[in-house]
Parts: sequence; structure tokens; C-alpha cells
Amino acid sequence: MTIFSPGAFRQQFPAMSDAGIYLDSAATALKPQAVIDATAQFYSLSAGTVHRSQFAAARALTEKYEQARGLVARWLNAADDRQIVWTRGTTEAINLVANSWLAPRLQAGDEIVVSEAEHHANLVPWLMVAKAAGAKVVKWPLGADRLPDIAQLPALLNSRTRLLAVGQMSNVTGGCPDLAQAIRLAHDVGAKVMVDGAQGVVHCPPDVQALDIDFYAFSGHKLYGPMGIGVLYGKAELLEAMDPWQGGGKMLTQVDFNGFTPQPVPWRFEAGTPNVAGVVGLSAALEWLAQHDGKKAEMWSQQLASLAEEQLSDIAGFRSFRCGNASLLAFDIAGIHHSDIVTLLAEHGIALRAGQHCAQPLMAALGVTGTLRVSFAPYNNLQDVDALVRAMRHAVDLLSE
Ligand code: PMP
Repeated sequence: MTIFSPGAFRQQFPAMSDAGIYLDSAATALKPQAVIDATAQFYSLSAGTVHRSQFAAARALTEKYEQARGLVARWLNAADDRQIVWTRGTTEAINLVANSWLAPRLQAGDEIVVSEAEHHANLVPWLMVAKAAGAKVVKWPLGADRLPDIAQLPALLNSRTRLLAVGQMSNVTGGCPDLAQAIRLAHDVGAKVMVDGAQGVVHCPPDVQALDIDFYAFSGHKLYGPMGIGVLYGKAELLEAMDPWQGGGKMLTQVDFNGFTPQPVPWRFEAGTPNVAGVVGLSAALEWLAQHDGKKAEMWSQQLASLAEEQLSDIAGFRSFRCGNASLLAFDIAGIHHSDIVTLLAEHGIALRAGQHCAQPLMAALGVTGTLRVSFAPYNNLQDVDALVRAMRHAVDLLSE
């Protein structure tokens, strides 16, 4: 493992020289050269696809594709590689659970408890299946600390609760609820738990066994990997009990006009030609990450967010929605619309996000129509913070006139 050095880390990201001041890593991370090389090599040198052909190049690719499952399994401490299903991303992974696991088990009057902090990806699929079944989606409200209020959870769970949906880390506040406790409480009433790891996996890869997580989803592109590849982890007995959601090539062992026999897990959930380039790129990202001191890198991003928060707090009307020492900082400025600020910041080459961050219920709970959000990664540096603060002061001065 190499000792973390912000400068050396940054140099591995060619987009750093072109992306301006990139403070939008919570939306998607920049890609290190190692991932770019692995993906380019796949497209320039590979032949064939996986699980279909006998020629040597295709067999080698299949081996790589399956080995990558093992890398992800170790990353999450899953007991078995077959508990890793390739998906397009977090969104598709959650929709797979909603359609394949929950929908066939959901009865009218059943309940799904969803935290108020969720990204739409961990809310809308539950609303969709609940509507079809006549079930109810129950809100798990935020507490004063902007985390889903664990004290309120026991009263929301009961024998009708089929599932608890909760994010490991909010993409707005950066808050991490007490997952272990929430999972214990849900299991006490016999409910399963879907954890959205889209943000959390980057900052704190979970031990899915220690936490007793039923389902966990994440996207490759936030973890320095390519877009269009993601993962669903599921407990073996849950995946085994699930019918496929999408039908097509290679998800079955036999088919005729009377029906079909699905493949074993996980292949039954991977109909059609998969995103092999995505798997190759994600596996390169995990191998590359393993060479770095993730804890030190994370501390650096958190320090940058703290510094930005401290310096921005001198601006009149600044209000932060950050939880703890997250590397994300969502904020607003009283009396100035976030979209006006972001337009001016863009003119200074500052890339950040403004709006509702696909979390409208959370915005409502925070009492805002939207926020600005800067999200730091270990490739950011002190100059990025300076540039942000300078551009913010300038924008606020202009817009306050
Ligand atoms: N959940 C959270 C917390 C997210 O931040 C995101 C990405 N913005 C998603 C889910 C959805 O991820 P994807 O769009 O990669 O499927």
C-alpha cells in the first residue's frame, strides 16, 4: 500500500487538468489512469463476450468477469462470490430487489419503511411496488441531527413491515445513520433491509456479514469506476428465493413454449450481453483502490470539507446542512437562490451541484427548495478550497447588490 499523498493521488487523474475545480465527486468520481487504461485495453485488445463462446479470448474474458465478482465480494466481505449480481448501477439493483424480491411477497396492507433522507432511487421503486400491491410506504423521519431518527424507528416497525430501506450515507448531508441498530430493529419484526450504498461504499465499505445486511447496492462510477456498472449484494437465501426480473439470453438453462428453467444465482439476474467493459473497469478500480491508504485519503477529503465549511461560514447568510465530518458539504445562502450562485461559480470554473439532489423529501424536511453541494475527493487540494471560497464571496457580493 502506498502512503497517501494528495499531490501524487491527484496526478493519477488526467481529467483534473481539464475539469476545472471539480467538486462534484458525490455525483460521479473522476477516473484514475489505471481505470482508463484497463477499459481502453478491453476495447482495443479483447475479442468476444462472456459466457457464450469457446474461443480462447472469450474464455479468458469470462474468467476475468467472474474473478471481478470475487474482488467485489472481498470488498464487501461477502461470504460467496455468487452473492454479487452485476447491475447497471444502484438504481437498477434496488429496482431488482423491488421487483424480484419484494413485489411477489407484498400483500395489501403490508408496509415498507423508508427513511426521509433517501435518494429517489431508494424511494420510488418502493412506491411503485407498494402502489401495485395496495401496500403502504411509511416515512422514517429525520431527527434534529438530520439523520433518520433511530428513536422513532421501533414505533414504525411492526409485523406488517416487509422491508426497511435506508441509505448508508446521505448524498446531501453526508450523514450516516446507525445501520447496525436499524438493521437489528428491522430484523426483530421479521423485516428485511435494503441498504443504498451509493455514497457510503466510497467512504466506508461495509462488512455486509458483520452488519447482517440483507441487500446492498452500489454504483461503480462513484467508486472511480466506469458508468453503467453496479452491484447488488444479497444474502444467499434471499437471492436463491428470487425469480428473475428480466428475461433474455443466458439467464436460463432450458426454454420452450411452456416455460423456462432459470440459471442458478447470480446469472439468472443477468439477462442479455452484460457490460463487460464496466466490470473490467470496476475491477481495475478496486485493484487500484487497494493500493492506497483509503482511511488517510478519506481523512484528507473530510479535512477539505471542514476547511471549506469554516471559511464559507464567514459569508453572511451561510447555512450548512453537513452531518458530522462528511466530505460533502450542502449549504445555502439566505436570500440568494442556489441556481443563481451555481451559474456564477460555473463562470469561475467551479464544478459543483445545486438543486434537490434527487432527494425531494429530504429537501422538504430541511425546509429548503434546494441547496448547493460541494463534494470533496482525495484528489482535491487546498487550492480548490481557496478557489471555491473566493468564487463564492464574489458571487454573493454580486448577487447581494
Ligand atoms: N443513492 C444515492 C445516495 C446516490 O447518491 C445515487 C447517485 N446520485 C444513487 C442512489 C443512484 O445511483 P445511480 O444513478 O448510479 O444508479
